[in-house]
Amino acid sequence: MKDLLIHSGSVVTPEGVFVADLAITGEEIVAIGPNLERDAWQIVDASGAFLFPGFIDAHVHFNEPGRAEWEGISSGSRALAAGGGTLYFDMPLNSTPPTLEGSALLRKRKIAEAKSVTDFALWGGLTPVNLTAMEELANLGVIGFKAFMSDSGISDFPRADADTLKRGMELAARRGLAVAVHAEDQELTADLAQRLRSAGKKEWKDYLNSRPVEAELIAIRTALDLAGETGCRLHVVHVSCPEGVELIAEARQKGINVSVETCPHYLLLTEEDLEKLGAPAKCAPPLRNEGCRSALWNQMRAGLVDTLGSDHSPAPMEMKLSTDAFSVWGGISGCQHGLALVLAELYASDGVIGLQRFTKMSATRVAERFGLDSKGTIAPGCHGDLVLVAFGEGSEISSENLRYRHKMSPYIGKFLRAQVRRTWLRGQQIYGEGLAGEPKPMGRMVTPKRRE
Ligand code: ZN
Repeated sequence: MKDLLIHSGSVVTPEGVFVADLAITGEEIVAIGPNLERDAWQIVDASGAFLFPGFIDAHVHFNEPGRAEWEGISSGSRALAAGGGTLYFDMPLNSTPPTLEGSALLRKRKIAEAKSVTDFALWGGLTPVNLTAMEELANLGVIGFKAFMSDSGISDFPRADADTLKRGMELAARRGLAVAVHAEDQELTADLAQRLRSAGKKEWKDYLNSRPVEAELIAIRTALDLAGETGCRLHVVHVSCPEGVELIAEARQKGINVSVETCPHYLLLTEEDLEKLGAPAKCAPPLRNEGCRSALWNQMRAGLVDTLGSDHSPAPMEMKLSTDAFSVWGGISGCQHGLALVLAELYASDGVIGLQRFTKMSATRVAERFGLDSKGTIAPGCHGDLVLVAFGEGSEISSENLRYRHKMSPYIGKFLRAQVRRTWLRGQQIYGEGLAGEPKPMGRMVTPKRRE
């Protein structure tokens, strides 16, 4: 007897979409094919729906330990599972302590093992104050290192100047690990913000003007140069503009080992939404104009975007209330709906080709890039990390739907036409139809194994 048989679903892989049955025993997929024998303890009819590899969100801030009141691993991982996610990579900030040394990583790992309903990986920090601890973090299984090229907003996570970044990249290169950068130029953004603020400017458009596309491009160029010099595997996170994606594509052609992430909010929202919605739509780099948004879509369709990460970064309501756009705490809550919204749009515009493209960016490519062997695809021997999605009439996202600790999202009011019906982690259902009660925390830490 198998443990689970999901029959008649449309299985999605980067190479194609085909109707099949899928069997799981223990934690693994053991068979995929037409008309598998229905000898399983549990049988799920997936006809009319699509079966994707569980989404891998390589960019979240769940802020635990230390700032669990901002989100926390329990509610954060449940929200992720409700949105089809089975694995997240938690950023080294804004937890307290930030993940800058071994003891902090072990502490976060222990909490996540106790609370997370999905699997997880942990980013370590790359800052001027922890270069000597990076080796230890690598030994303990970090998925890579994250550096800020502009101020992070968190005093115990200082930004990396070019020299620090280079030294960190050298170490990461020796260990075959990725370095992720928040790429915005400190000098330009700080100077613009200071000028605007001292002139009494504090509207949303002023905030936008303080973080122009050019600031992103300056920092991306620096990071690409350093990656070229050091041979480091560079991952540029939350790129908001087509010019940035272009720079990265050119560098890759020249042999630089680089990948690029964009976020659903840059594909779904523009600066007009920031003017309308205010605080829930504030992020850095900020939302861009409609021209940028549609150009990013074209680049994504052309295969120039490697990964989609939510950059889920919530904070308590009281930090979102200021009337000064510069003082409002930044960060968008999006790990529950962002990916599914992009998926729905891709399916509507590109059909099954859109599904294949999405699967690559939300799972397969992420697992490849970060060396996760049993994750990111649907194949015998892989973990039974799956999400069953039905497309249809859909429903409006409301604050009652949100599983976050703070019921705030720039996607409230949007119509979601990709409905996550069930999510499974290693063969166990963690979200959706037929699930009695709350899922039990069974999250396990995943560490990078393979290098490309
Ligand atoms: Zn982030």
